[in-house]
Amino acid sequence: MVDFSNFSTEELLTPGGFDCDCGYHHEAPVKFLKIGPGAVKTIPEALQALGCKKPYIVCDLNTKKAAWDKVEPVLKEAGIEYSMFCFNTEKRLEPNEEVMGAITFGFDKSCDVVMALGSGVINDNCKIIASIANIPCMVVGTAPSMDGYASNSSAMVIGGLKFSLYHGMPAAIICDTDIMKDAPMRMLWAGLGDMIAKYVAICEWRIGALVVGDPYCEKIATLVRRSLDKVTSAADKLQTRDPEVVGDIAEGLVLSGIAMSFAGNSRPASGLEHYFSHMWEMMALERGGESDLHGIQVGVGCYLTFKLYEQIKKITPDREKALNWMKNFDAAKWEAETHRCFGSVAPGIIAAAAKEKRNDPEKHAKRVDLIISNWDKILKIIDEEMPTFERIMEIMTVSGMPIRPAELGVSEEDVHDALCASRDIRDKYLSSTLLWDLGLLYEMAENFDGK
Ligand SMILES: [Zn+2]
Ligand SMILES: [Zn+2]
Repeated sequence: MVDFSNFSTEELLTPGGFDCDCGYHHEAPVKFLKIGPGAVKTIPEALQALGCKKPYIVCDLNTKKAAWDKVEPVLKEAGIEYSMFCFNTEKRLEPNEEVMGAITFGFDKSCDVVMALGSGVINDNCKIIASIANIPCMVVGTAPSMDGYASNSSAMVIGGLKFSLYHGMPAAIICDTDIMKDAPMRMLWAGLGDMIAKYVAICEWRIGALVVGDPYCEKIATLVRRSLDKVTSAADKLQTRDPEVVGDIAEGLVLSGIAMSFAGNSRPASGLEHYFSHMWEMMALERGGESDLHGIQVGVGCYLTFKLYEQIKKITPDREKALNWMKNFDAAKWEAETHRCFGSVAPGIIAAAAKEKRNDPEKHAKRVDLIISNWDKILKIIDEEMPTFERIMEIMTVSGMPIRPAELGVSEEDVHDALCASRDIRDKYLSSTLLWDLGLLYEMAENFDGK
């Protein structure tokens, strides 16, 4: 079997994918990828690879300003016709019905490919309109701010609630570092935040494999670790917008998308740190407020998660305490807390937990057995995957990115609630789920200092 773990990002996109000794077939349906300085010059080549002629270009005032003076001459020179829809705003777009409707109204049926000129929200919306129009989607990225470029899901807000819609991934991705290096610094930090999340992601993927039998692939993990090392070792150069570091982050984020596609889930790319962000985002939606960039929140979530792991490393699991905790589990109290933390989405959360028997004593006892008998292995995984707290602080500090919740205006109470509720969002085994299983989550959250 091919060992793809040392392949370049382009080589990973070999048509037909790879059979792997983990027992799964890995494939990512991206047909064209170019990352680097001057990458937009390959737009004609990308269109050719997709067999397309006329793009429907979607952008907003910010992304147009960032990239159009580089993209337009390329289209002109190659004689490529296009239609464009530009949101007449400099404000951050919300991935909601209004934005999606505007893109749909502006759609030119004579176009045979959708081209997102932007990053998160524009890319997410374009994947959907392309899928509905049954034509390919391509993206010309303007900021290395999140790992959604090579992802098949779109994070959308529907009726005020957050959903992931699966409409396929862009068939071509172009990340021009000459454009990306000039992105707002907060977006560069967001990209770094979404990258360092991968330390936790791989660690919790391995723990999940031990405790609940999640399928795990060492080769995918190796890919992610490799690009993570590259990015973090040069984090000090981010503040000076070093094009090479910006390119490494863009590549790491695209590779994370490919890794998720290979794994068929988000295991290689997100762990507890992402759940802090998910919770804060849901809270903001519930309160009618705004949340920060995904990667910025995830970065702060990393700080909190690394802090929590310092405590996890000191735990001696106690079977009796764990089983007693389950025996005395107060379902009514848990439901009331779920209503308090999740508001209008609580009924869905409670129904999903019941369906998956997440709070079932028999299943819990099995997990406790596995945690206790594998505790040495779990400590070894943490030691292998997670850099020290000092090291992660060093990476975050030299980059200049926000670190603590207070810097984002997130209160101590919202840190506490997000930690307690993280395991309830969906059926993904996180370090907080492990603490819950051991009967320690709520007491640890009580004394957890997010400062
Ligand atoms: Zn594999
Ligand atoms: Zn993310």
